[in-house]
Amino acid sequence: MRILFLDCISGISGDMTVGALCDLGVKPSALEWELSKLDLGDFHMHFERQQRKAIEGVKFSIHEGATHRHDQDEPCGCTGEGHEHSHPQHEHEPCSCHGHEHGGHHHEEEHTHHGHHEHEDHAHGRSYAEIRALIEASDLSDFVKTHALSIFHRVAIAEGKIHGKPTEEVAFHEVGALDSIADILCTCVGIEQLGIEEVRVSPLFEGRGWVECAHGRFPVPAPATLEILAGIPLGQIDEPFEFITPTGAAIVAEFGHSFGVMPALRIEKIGYGIGTRQLANRPNVLRAILGETNARAAAPYLTDTIVRVETNLDDLSPEITGAVLNRLLEAGALDATLSPLQMKKNRPGVLLTVLCEEATLPKIADLIFDETTAFGLRMERVERWKLDRRFETVATPFGDVILKLGLRGEEIVQIAPEFESCRAVSERSGQPLRAVYDAALQAHQRK
Ligand SMILES: [Zn+2]
Repeated sequence: MRILFLDCISGISGDMTVGALCDLGVKPSALEWELSKLDLGDFHMHFERQQRKAIEGVKFSIHEGATHRHDQDEPCGCTGEGHEHSHPQHEHEPCSCHGHEHGGHHHEEEHTHHGHHEHEDHAHGRSYAEIRALIEASDLSDFVKTHALSIFHRVAIAEGKIHGKPTEEVAFHEVGALDSIADILCTCVGIEQLGIEEVRVSPLFEGRGWVECAHGRFPVPAPATLEILAGIPLGQIDEPFEFITPTGAAIVAEFGHSFGVMPALRIEKIGYGIGTRQLANRPNVLRAILGETNARAAAPYLTDTIVRVETNLDDLSPEITGAVLNRLLEAGALDATLSPLQMKKNRPGVLLTVLCEEATLPKIADLIFDETTAFGLRMERVERWKLDRRFETVATPFGDVILKLGLRGEEIVQIAPEFESCRAVSERSGQPLRAVYDAALQAHQRK
């Protein structure tokens, strides 16, 4: 399986993600083409090779207007480094309260480009509803539309909650709107074009301190970032910077399949997305690693990752232990089993093993703690290889029986009469279950 591992050594923002994807091979011209499918007025993009602490990568930025004006200069847009003090207006970017990724731009100068009128119309920013309409009406691919809309939705919900506004009315400021739209769409386009099947993300951490925005001062992590990252492990380190912008957070929330150390990968390519600031103690880059997991060898099997939860029990009544299995299955466990154990102090015990999907894990964990005497759970993410499934009805002399077929590609590897279907036929016909099973398999062979 083709994996993108995002190593957020200095956090993540939308523009860093786009830069990293470009460094991995996404063509700027392709991004420009995709963005041209939306009515965004005049804009131009920069894809510059820059360095942060001797690591080189791609610095992405987008500006309004068909050509570059001086007031759009990035703090480190020039070749070479060490300019961060000459552009104090950029010190506090990215402003985080409204999804600005490049919040330091000033637009007091005369606007002469075609986008002028549109710009006036959006003096207070495009609302989430407007951005959604823009994306929905475009010719972007379904993949890009779906994920871009979902990312915007994540940001809008978070901003709305913090500022007490309905989601539809949340405004992305005029500068932020173009930046956010570009960052989010280009990220989705890049992930689609690189053929990435799964995105994994390193453990996330934020800095501390404050960010300044139009609405005032906000503590780091920015409130929107925190909202968006709910449910995702997040730590904080003693660095006075904002490492994760709301857009960056929404991108990992949308695409991040799991959060942790890099999985075993056959590495194909490494890309670096450059952040705006120079940081004293670390390279301000997002490292993106493209590689294959062994799961590719799994084709034509279906693969996914599930969680195995285990606990040893030695002091629960067998009556309750048995009942817990049913509860777990009802709660959405994929499987739940008990195996005998000989535990310490020679106590006979059981190993409770539950397989579940990541999304069901909290419910399963709660249920085990509520229903058993467990004090702790062990859990592990496990890769699963599966046969594709198809159901088929065959006619036997005793009645119709449903068969479950296991497929490897088009090849039938397993044939199993469905138990409940056989039992019903057996009861109706008075034939032994075994005879119904045999008749069902023979009926399949005759087809
Ligand atoms: Zn420019």
